[in-house]
This record gives sequence, structure tokens and C-alpha cells, in this order.
Amino acid sequence: MQLTDSVGRNINYLRLSVTDRCNMRCFYCMPKEGVASKGHEAILSYEELQLIAETAVGMGIEKIRITGGEPLVRAGIVDFLARLSAIPGLRHLALTTNGLLLADMATELYQAGVQRLNVSLDSLNPETFSKITRGGDLTRVLDGLDAAEKAGFPPPKINCVIMRGVNDAEIMSFAEMTRLRGSSIRFIEYMPVVKDEGWQRYCISGEEILQRIAASYPLEQVDKGPFAGPSRDYRIPGAVGSIGIITAVSGHFCSECNRIRVTSTGQAKGCLFSDEKTDLVPFLRPSDRDKLAEVLRGIVSGKPERHGISCNSYEHKNFLMAQIGG
Ligand code: SAM
Ligand code: SF4
Repeated sequence: MQLTDSVGRNINYLRLSVTDRCNMRCFYCMPKEGVASKGHEAILSYEELQLIAETAVGMGIEKIRITGGEPLVRAGIVDFLARLSAIPGLRHLALTTNGLLLADMATELYQAGVQRLNVSLDSLNPETFSKITRGGDLTRVLDGLDAAEKAGFPPPKINCVIMRGVNDAEIMSFAEMTRLRGSSIRFIEYMPVVKDEGWQRYCISGEEILQRIAASYPLEQVDKGPFAGPSRDYRIPGAVGSIGIITAVSGHFCSECNRIRVTSTGQAKGCLFSDEKTDLVPFLRPSDRDKLAEVLRGIVSGKPERHGISCNSYEHKNFLMAQIGG
């Protein structure tokens, strides 16, 4: 079964957030203080999240990515993932993490049936890393990457938000990880979600990132796999890993968007940057599978054709990335 939206995009990917809590405070994602986590009762139970996942897969979703906040801080996450991986028809289960707890959890995540990990890593310099994450310990993340491979995972994909004047001097070091470690890197354009005077100074387009790499290495385009999202992927000839750009701000993105999102409080969204969201809680408490499927279908058919943000204009919306899951 294929899920198609009103402009013909095949929607096969659900990003499911399991918590709004996080053990880091990346400055581009969360304000330093004043983020009240939602109360326990507002967060969907694992049973409710599983019902959403099963319903979505029954409608044609083939890939689920678990995200947060930081998904690995939620108690019981491994058992939940094991239940998700057993859903008939689900072809790909992935998880996005900041990697802080990965060294201890990699083996159980692998055994639970997670197929792929994305690890967010914005700097290879301990001081810059600590500044961006407001106190995060780079060593733990690097240990987590090693542990993931030892546990049997393919080299985790590394998500890297590049910000001018913060970490753009490290673009080449990240690109070289695709040769030296076999990691795949995806450079994500900075999105102005946290109110910050003069945020435009951080913006650096995916195109510029590619040009900087191409000044040192030739880049060949890589064919996309079946579950690839809207990244454009390249490879330094001979490198094992690939280099992708996710140009969420500068464009080339919306026409290939294949995803819907559900937050940990049960808000479903067709577009990260749209104000529109639908509360799924009335169809979960008590549960009504048919109605839930109907509402999810409505999210897909109402998915906006494109968002309206650019590096010159953006009206700050009332949301935090950690609440939606990126
Ligand atoms: N805590 C996990 C992590 O950091 O990987 C999962 C949740 S996090 C919200 C998911 C992704 O959103 C991360 O890769 C993060 O870099 C990205 N993200 C958060 N805020 C962003 C922003 N303002 N611009 C671009 N990407 C952002
Ligand atoms: Fe936490 Fe991930 Fe947001 Fe960083 S990007 S604050 S790790 S949710």
C-alpha cells in the first residue's frame, strides 16, 4: 500500500518523538533555561506510541525514526524499540540520538532490532562541542560511535548542524571522516528555531558547504537508497562514507519530503515549519484505530507543498525542535 499526498509525494516515513526531555542543551535547539518539560500525563505512553506506529505502518509507512528530546533518556526505551521492530510491514527502524548514552546502550539497541543510528555531532573539538551543547562531553559521544560499530551497527550517520563562525572551520574534518572512518556525514542547515538576535549570522547554505569540500576533493553524486530522505548525497571517490546536505532552509527540499511527524504529546504534523498540527490524543484515550488511521490520512493529504522560511525571513514559531524531534 502506498500513501500519497495531494501533490503526489510518496509518504513512507514517520518521525516519532518519545520524549521532550534531553540530557544536553544545544543552543540552536533549546534555550538555556526556562524549558519546562511536559508533565508525565501529557507524554504518550509506550502503548499509545505503539498504536500510532502500528496504524501508520498499516497505512503504508515503511520507515520509523525514533527521536526526541533525547530518546535514550526515556526509561523502557529498549523494550519499546523491540516491540516496534516486530511490527509486520515495518521495513526500517532507525533512531536519532545525541550519543551521550550510546556507549552503554549500543548492544541492547542492536539486539532490540534498531537497524540504523544517526548521531548528532556538531564538533570534533571538545571545547567547541561543549559550547554548542552547553556542557556536553565529546569523548562520551565518540565512545558511543565506537560502541555502536562494535555492537554490529553500520557506521552511524553523523548529523552535523553547520553554523558560520561556530563550527564551519571543521567542515573538512567532518568530510575527511568519510574517508578515514567510513562514517557518512549529513550537514544540516541551521534553522532559526530558538529566538536569537542576529541568527542570520549563523546561516551557511548546503551549497557553500559542498563548494568548500569540492575545493579540496572531487565529489561524485550517490544514488539514494529506498528510505532516503531529502538529503543530497555525494562521495569523495574511494571513500566508504558519503557526504549529504540537508538544505531545509535554502531549498531543494520540500518536493522530496516523504515524512510526517508525531510529537511525544501526540501532536501530528505534516510539515516541521507549519503551525498546523493535529492532536491525536482523543483517538488514543480511549483508542480508536479506525479514527486514528483516518486522521493520519488527513495529515498526509493536507501536507503543505512547501514551507516559507529562508535565511532572510523567518517568523519565530512557538515551538522547540526538542519538542518535535527535528
Ligand atoms: N537529541 C537527539 C539528537 O540530538 O540527535 C534527537 C533530537 S534532535 C531535536 C534531532 C535533530 O535535530 C538533531 O540532529 C539536531 O541537530 C537537529 N536540530 C535541532 N535544532 C536544530 C536547528 N535549529 N537547526 C537544524 N537542526 C536542528
Ligand atoms: Fe537535545 Fe538533540 Fe536538541 Fe541537542 S539537538 S538539545 S541533544 S534534543
